[in-house]
Amino acid sequence: MTRVLVIGGGIAGYCAALAARRDGADVTVVARAPGATALYAGGMAIIDDLEAVLRTPHHPLARLGIDPVGIATELDTAISTLQLALGKEGLKFEGTWRRRGLYADIHGVARPANVVPTTVAPGELGALSGKRVAVIGVPQVGDYDAASTAQALKELHGIEAFAEDVTIDDLPVAASLTDLYGRRAPAPRARGAAVAYPPGFVALPDEGFELLSSPPSPHGWRLQQALALGAVQAEVTSFETTQDRVVAARSSARSFRADAFVLATGRHIGGGLKGGRVTAEPLLGLGVFHDGSPASSFGVRLHLLEYLDPSEEMRMGLMTDKRLHPLREDGAVAFGNLYAAGAVLGGYDYAGPCGFGVPILTGWLAGRYAAKQGE
Ligand SMILES: Cc1cc2nc3c(=O)[nH]c(=O)nc-3n(C[C@H](O)[C@H](O)[C@H](O)COP(=O)(O)OP(=O)(O)OC[C@H]3O[C@@H](n4cnc5c(N)ncnc54)[C@H](O)[C@@H]3O)c2cc1C
Repeated sequence: MTRVLVIGGGIAGYCAALAARRDGADVTVVARAPGATALYAGGMAIIDDLEAVLRTPHHPLARLGIDPVGIATELDTAISTLQLALGKEGLKFEGTWRRRGLYADIHGVARPANVVPTTVAPGELGALSGKRVAVIGVPQVGDYDAASTAQALKELHGIEAFAEDVTIDDLPVAASLTDLYGRRAPAPRARGAAVAYPPGFVALPDEGFELLSSPPSPHGWRLQQALALGAVQAEVTSFETTQDRVVAARSSARSFRADAFVLATGRHIGGGLKGGRVTAEPLLGLGVFHDGSPASSFGVRLHLLEYLDPSEEMRMGLMTDKRLHPLREDGAVAFGNLYAAGAVLGGYDYAGPCGFGVPILTGWLAGRYAAKQGE
């Protein structure tokens, strides 16, 4: 049985582990801490225009060399397997990568998403059209104002929304949204209306739904807790390698030997890339690229570009071959049994329309390729 070690406990690492296990591998996931996945707003943006993405030079999905039908098939399988696995952990999701909806966040601003928790799904803005919407407010909570959210829903999206305040007795002084986490949703007074709750409550009434959040995100926290089940909490600090293979990953307490390794360490928040004068991959010194060229070749010019447009920084990261092997700075495959997935990859804006699409699909494929290592 092929032994696969996945380094990273975010959505990419989780999908890699799912795929590798499905293909018969013996999988261990090692994760240091929550990364960017724990901050997501509550709606998974998978992909907007697949054909356009596959035409984008250096985009990690374009580099796979798979045609649109093949990508569509892999996405279908990856997302349905992911939904099934999260459902077993008690976290139910709805949606497909083929259709996007718009969902309001706690400020009433619309965000596009393909796959959302079932507690968010009824709040799709198109589905709310023509309905009355009560926006639940908690006056003791300082970082959220239901009246402004209702106003924004009206002005920005033409929804007949109004605020309805509820009182919660045992909140601390100067409470914030995080203090609502895990509490039972208070029953609304309004009858016959859809009810928008700030995120974090549980046991919503039938007509209730949750708004998307800004960090810190109850949606992200729930997802991260489900993903972390079964992962070993440890920080990989170095690797044992031969010239062309990885033999083991080391943490301070132990060594993890495997036949194949998936690096799903995220970008700056996860810790997969280290900022500095030149952005670097800290564990194996893999090549970090911007627009297909080594980041080091830009010198200070890239810093100036980043200063002018921060999204430049967002596109920097590892570059892979068709089988998701990360490349060295000179363009050669670093190690034949090492795969990379998720936000550690460059070539796309991870705060953009493939925020979860790239980690899910590259994680899924990296897991599959890693499981077939011995073949
Ligand atoms: C604030 C914010 C909000 C976002 N909101 C959305 C959204 O609403 N919708 C959307 O689609 N996308 C969103 N995104 C993008 C999306 O969250 C990320 O692209 C995605 O979560 C990245 O997943 P990942 O698994 O690649 O990385 P991460 O989730 O960052 O996971 C990296 C993992 O690697 C581990 N790790 C790193 N180094 C080591 C090491 N040496 N040893 C052991 N473990 C290690 C980390 O501890 C972590 O567990 C958002 C991003 C941010 C920053």
